[in-house]
Amino acid sequence: MSELRTSTGPPQTDELPPVPEWTGVAPRNPAPPPLVPRRTTRAVQVGPVTIGGGAPVSVQSMTITKTDDWAATLEQIHALAAAGCEIARVSVPDAKAAAACVKIKEGSPLPLVADIHFDHRYALAAIDAGWDKLRLNPGNIRDAAKVREVVKAAAARRMPIRIGVNNGSLAPDIVERYGHTPEGMVESGLRHLRILEELDFHDIVVSLKAHDVRTTVAAYRLMATKVDYPFHLGITEAGTLRSGTVKSSVGLGLLLAEGIGDTIRVSLTADPVEEVPVCWDILKSLGLRERGVEITSCPSCGRVQIDIVKLAEQVERITAEYRAPVKVAVMGCAVNGPGEASMADVGIAGGKGMGLIYRDGVMIRSLPEAQLLAGLREEIEKVIKERYPEYA
Ligand code: SF4
Repeated sequence: MSELRTSTGPPQTDELPPVPEWTGVAPRNPAPPPLVPRRTTRAVQVGPVTIGGGAPVSVQSMTITKTDDWAATLEQIHALAAAGCEIARVSVPDAKAAAACVKIKEGSPLPLVADIHFDHRYALAAIDAGWDKLRLNPGNIRDAAKVREVVKAAAARRMPIRIGVNNGSLAPDIVERYGHTPEGMVESGLRHLRILEELDFHDIVVSLKAHDVRTTVAAYRLMATKVDYPFHLGITEAGTLRSGTVKSSVGLGLLLAEGIGDTIRVSLTADPVEEVPVCWDILKSLGLRERGVEITSCPSCGRVQIDIVKLAEQVERITAEYRAPVKVAVMGCAVNGPGEASMADVGIAGGKGMGLIYRDGVMIRSLPEAQLLAGLREEIEKVIKERYPEYA
């Protein structure tokens, strides 16, 4: 193990402290405590992505273009993929959309889920076009022969089906018996499940979405006691960028922290590309996935002597391009700076018109404020080469 300098204290004067020499990579701090073990589920294959069976929790989103405009739909799918989306759902609501399925499949970089309501012909079109999964509630296709036709075709292609219960559209008899409750949602899910199971189809993912966080969480918890199918998590109609992000983070975070959930979608009334980083931030915050730089930054306060808000925004901007899971702390002063920096790969603690740069909690450079960003970038790139060479 290389020997390290251990100077961590704050500067005592306005003078820039001497720059020590960085002589090696320090051992990481112990990992945070683990979550409870993930729920044991069957594994379902959606193109190259596995859902459940212990696979990493995957990130989904849904296009909002008119599906029959296949070029616009493909453009949005490519934008989702660039943002880190792993599975794209696309509604197939009519014959024109069904006719576009082949073109969309040909140009899609992501596995595709056909969102189908009522009309089994559009499901068959997506299956024929080689899509990767259906979202379909078999109980909504009234004719049993048509359900059999779809399930047989999906089974022949090893194409899974997601049963997607929405609390707002439960069957009238379920509402009469249970109301719009977690129990009603679970009963609805079980009813659809039984139809597939009676056809010996078990390649199933289940979702139970309500706009209310507590109802959604209770429904998934209850269903987790009854079946071993993997779960697609989501809060439906969660809202605009801010409120939807908060509601989804709370709801999905609660469940994921309990080991429940195998793929997630955050529904926002916004460009769907916005949903993807929210999903990733939820997963990263719980240590379930790693992707790109994770920034810890202080909120600033009366002690700060540099423009920490601007600096944190700049750091976020310049690190957006990196895929390595480097941990970066951007702290306004030397009160909490060294402590936070010790838990990061690279950290900054601001001083008066200057800042200190830390590697693994060891102060290695002091720079005037104007040079801090460039200095930080250099250190991040060194960390990537040394610690995450697969991303270098
Ligand atoms: S790190 Fe310093 S500037 Fe930032 S909030 Fe804490 S005390 Fe204030």
